[in-house]
Amino acid sequence: MNDYKSTIYHELGHCVGYILANKRYDTHLGKIAMELGVERNRVMLEESYYRDLDKVQESTKNIPRTIAWFIEVILGSLFQANYQKRNFKEIFAYHTDGGGTDLSNLLITRGKSSFNWHPNHIDDREGLQGDLNNLFPREFLIAAFDNIVDRINNEIVTHPKRQIDYSEERMDMLCEEISEHLDQRLFNQYTIIIDKWNSYFSARIKS
Ligand SMILES: [Zn+2]
Repeated sequence: MNDYKSTIYHELGHCVGYILANKRYDTHLGKIAMELGVERNRVMLEESYYRDLDKVQESTKNIPRTIAWFIEVILGSLFQANYQKRNFKEIFAYHTDGGGTDLSNLLITRGKSSFNWHPNHIDDREGLQGDLNNLFPREFLIAAFDNIVDRINNEIVTHPKRQIDYSEERMDMLCEEISEHLDQRLFNQYTIIIDKWNSYFSARIKS
């Protein structure tokens, strides 16, 4: 039997990034859609703040929201790495099946950013990735999400096309279910991380 659990953990990481961002008004990223299975795996945002390159300069003027987006981008590979007990940078790298697209989507915005950032600020141990890694250790992921991931995995392997495209209603339900495992302590830590990097990047606005 095929096992899509690593992929599902990866996509759930992106979902958690969006859910946390949407809890704050200043980092709100908006509604998401998800596709999971053999043909397509992705979590998409309806708003095109960081996807449409013409909007990136304006969108990155909101630094807290941009950090929330950075976090959402790396949480996919971070969840996958911790689930698989692998190194984050093995997954968040070019030519990988997991984080390659995420890395490109991130780097392509860099030239248009309203503030200066280096990839190390985001994907290194000393960067956002290191701060987030402490929040989502493997034991937490398994305890919080393994039942959900098993259920989705079963659904994919028994689906005739091995593909689930989530309707808006099902997506809302899934997000609610995930939210139940994101407690106030975790959200407070998330807020501390956003504030820390907001101070840092606010001093690097391009003139
Ligand atoms: Zn991803």
